[in-house]
Amino acid sequence: ILTIQHLKKSFGQHEVLKDIDLQVQRGEVMTIIGSSGSGKSTLLRCLNLLDDATAGEILYNGQNILDPNFNRIQYRAKVGMVFQQFNLFNNLNALENCVVAQTTVLKKSPAEAEKNALAQLEKVGMGPYVKAKPAQLSGGQKQRVAIARTLAMSPDMILFDEPTSALDPEMVDGILDIMKDLAHTGLTMILVTHEMGFARDISDHVVFMDQGVIAEQGSAEQIFSSPKNPRTQEFLQRYL
Ligand code: ATP
Ligand code: MG
Repeated sequence: ILTIQHLKKSFGQHEVLKDIDLQVQRGEVMTIIGSSGSGKSTLLRCLNLLDDATAGEILYNGQNILDPNFNRIQYRAKVGMVFQQFNLFNNLNALENCVVAQTTVLKKSPAEAEKNALAQLEKVGMGPYVKAKPAQLSGGQKQRVAIARTLAMSPDMILFDEPTSALDPEMVDGILDIMKDLAHTGLTMILVTHEMGFARDISDHVVFMDQGVIAEQGSAEQIFSSPKNPRTQEFLQRYL
């Protein structure tokens, strides 16, 4: 679904992504691991065009998304993103949060958007809270709404950036279970997480980033059981 070639991203003099080459297959779950500052979030942000890459190519089904003529709006509607900090609209209730992009971006009728939003909220266990504002919800509940909002767009691919890092420990498993269920539906997922057991369980493909480069990648089994790069070994040891 994605082919990333020679991708670079700098902030001023600081090169944060250095010549990233990466393939993401349709339907796979790809997990990106690595130390703080290694460029994981920046890579995700480049993939959904929240950040503009400095150089290189990102081919989505063969089309370069960095091309000035590429339809970014349509692409963004197809690529969901779930953030550590939820990024819900605080003035809107759970249902409204899941409706708004469907009507504005996908041009669905309010009735159709609402029906779909309710179904998605139901799916993530938020049926009883559709009228609640984010301030009335726990972190785990907010993240469920954020996931429902993304699913309501019928995405082709979802990017998750540490979706459980801001949650109280007792909320984490519920979110991981939802993600596991999604993975089994054949959705393409790219996730950044520090939940190594979960990553090992769910991932088809694991990428270890170190200082802006992909230091190692392979199957979950390969990376977690027999990492070759000393930097990967050292990183994983911290999680044992
Ligand atoms: P973490 O695990 O802490 O989330 P990360 O791997 O996601 O780390 P990034 O957020 O991608 O790391 O950041 C990589 C580097 O890019 C860091 O050195 C960071 O300071 C820098 N950086 C990220 N965003 C910006 C920005 N908007 N302006 C300047 N520098 C930035
Ligand atoms: Mg990050």
